[in-house]
Amino acid sequence: MDTVLALSAGWKHGDVGGRAADEVLARMPWLARALEAALSGGQGLGEGSGESQRLRALVLAVHGDDDQLLGACARLQTLGLEEVARDALSAELSRVRKRYEDFIDSIDGIVWEADAEFRFTFVSKQAERLLGIPAEQWLRQPDFWARHVHPDDWPGVLSSCLSAWRQGRPHEFEYRMLAADGHIAWMRAHVTAVMEDGRPMRLRGLMVDVTEQRQARERLEHAHSVLRATFDSIGDGVVLVGLDQRIIAFNKRFQLMWGLSDEVMESRVAQRALESAAPLTRDPARFVRRIQDQYFPSEEITVDSIELRDGRVLEGTSLPQRVGDAVIGRVWSYRDVTEERRAKVERERLLVAEQNARERAEESFALLDTFLNHAPVGLAFINRELRYLRINDALASLHGRKRDEELGRTVREMNPNMASIFEPLMLQVMETGIPLSDMEMSGHVPATPDELRHWRVSYYPVRTPSGGVVGLGAVVVEVTAEHRARQERERLLKEAQEAISVRDDFLSIAAHELKTPLTPLKLHLQMMKQQSTAGHARQPHHVDKALAQVTRLSVLIHDLLDATRIEAGRLELRREPVELQALANEVLAETRPLGHQHTLEYEAPPEPLVVKGDRGRLAQVLTNLLENAFKYSPSGGVVRLTLERDGAQALISVKDTGIGIPEDQREHLFQRFFRARNAPISGFGGLGLGLYICRDIIERHGGHIWVDTEVGQGSTFRVTLPLET
Ligand code: ADP
Repeated sequence: MDTVLALSAGWKHGDVGGRAADEVLARMPWLARALEAALSGGQGLGEGSGESQRLRALVLAVHGDDDQLLGACARLQTLGLEEVARDALSAELSRVRKRYEDFIDSIDGIVWEADAEFRFTFVSKQAERLLGIPAEQWLRQPDFWARHVHPDDWPGVLSSCLSAWRQGRPHEFEYRMLAADGHIAWMRAHVTAVMEDGRPMRLRGLMVDVTEQRQARERLEHAHSVLRATFDSIGDGVVLVGLDQRIIAFNKRFQLMWGLSDEVMESRVAQRALESAAPLTRDPARFVRRIQDQYFPSEEITVDSIELRDGRVLEGTSLPQRVGDAVIGRVWSYRDVTEERRAKVERERLLVAEQNARERAEESFALLDTFLNHAPVGLAFINRELRYLRINDALASLHGRKRDEELGRTVREMNPNMASIFEPLMLQVMETGIPLSDMEMSGHVPATPDELRHWRVSYYPVRTPSGGVVGLGAVVVEVTAEHRARQERERLLKEAQEAISVRDDFLSIAAHELKTPLTPLKLHLQMMKQQSTAGHARQPHHVDKALAQVTRLSVLIHDLLDATRIEAGRLELRREPVELQALANEVLAETRPLGHQHTLEYEAPPEPLVVKGDRGRLAQVLTNLLENAFKYSPSGGVVRLTLERDGAQALISVKDTGIGIPEDQREHLFQRFFRARNAPISGFGGLGLGLYICRDIIERHGGHIWVDTEVGQGSTFRVTLPLET
């Protein structure tokens, strides 16, 4: 190392031999770096300060013959003052330029310059950020601008730029540009011509993306137009008045409602509008006062009802208009409530009328209900499904229920026994709309299942005002008592008629029976008279025959008297012990068969059968039964009298082989004046009193009498009498 370099490196005596290069060049790091670069095959150029001056070093690698790296050799050159100054200026220039470019690029918009043909000669880096197209493309394409402006806006852009060019003053305008991704960006352009020597040389400008502002403005305009349209279309008349008493806004409805002229409204003077409107009200002074009271900036919200002279009624609402917290004016909105009020009054009137009608209806309903429920006849309303809508107690009681239990139930549920009778009739009334009145019905109802009852029933169709049949009204009148009375009457009538016919029969039979013995009696008496007149001896058989006829008459008369006594309850018995065998023997001795064709048999037990009774009356019974046995066995046969003991009773039987008694006649056999259909009328007729008297006598002795008989086979009359113990 030469001394100059050693000194420049800060070594006072230039004694650096043997020292490491790093150590020697500690104060000249730029030279150490250049050395290092040269040793590693690079360019060993460096510039820096030495001990006292500016130095430039050129370092070269030194190679041996075999191209082996041996070391490096540095050549140092001291720089003069001029060179140093030039380098410094150049460095400053590039720093300023950098700052300027940073500044341009930091502007939120595209700074540009273009020539007279609108070819961009400069665009800032924002160009790429805003439209996504690199700045180089802006500069490279001569017609870049024309191609990227919205076709509709290009003529405007062109004319503004030309004006700026010609007039030499800035122009501002907005237009649309097409971005790389296809979206449209709204740009605001500020264009000015750059003049040189009084002549325009270039265009220079700034493009700012105003898409968002533009959209916001459009939204605002849209919102404003919606508000305006709403404002004009609402039914309320609205006016806004500022603190300076000027009308800020109003809608058409307000102007029309108050009949305000265009001139008044255009003047915007609130006081004038108030003066024009006030005379329309019924009380103008009050109206004006009220408005003024409301006006003075107050927080109050008021609602007033304003009556106009023409009959309209307006409802006015007044409230403060605010921006944020500040009151900036007041709003009045008026609504025409004339119809509303009328409707309300009408509604109230109708309500009162309806209330009255309802009360009246309830009253009549209560009356009807009371009437219905307490009516002595059964009443019900039944719907088309045959369910009870209403039913009164009288009808419900037939079903053995309370009326409330029946509502909504079907007629079949309530009266299953009779449903099949009245259901078809009910359906018929609802189908035809023709009532069915006073139908006679009989049947058994749940309340009295064992009793046959009778009703007179009517069904009437129930119609809606439009005529449709919605159900039926049923009226059920109980006529069981009447029915029974009628039946009783009919029975009595029948009995009376029967009695009359019996009496008539009796009279004719009695007359016949009484007359029958008279003819032979008269005959025998006449014979006896003739014999006596002729002085002949009296024929005894005439006397006997006459006496027999008298006996027959007296028997008939006794029977009649006995029957009368029995009816009057005056048949008296004289009771004494009677031995039946002895009694039978006496009767048999008296009773003669009518003809010889009869055989009379008698059978009795050896031990005596003693009863306590009326001897004569018991003999009368035996006689009667035996005589009947003969009488009703006209073709002869055996008549058998049997006495026997049957436990504590004596049993007397009189059996014949005669005509018998038809079955349907047997129950009447022991009745007064009864003669069986098959009893012969003539010959051995009777009055139909014998068995009647017999039964009364036997029953009064505590016994019974009955008959076993077969038509054509004969009859056995049996009598029991309690034996005396
Ligand atoms: P009468 O014999 O006088 O008609 P009764 O009271 O003795 O009256 O008998 C009533 C009726 O009973 C008779 O008319 C007759 O039809 C019937 N009758 C009574 N006894 C007999 C009998 N043994 N056989 C058939 N019918 C008899």
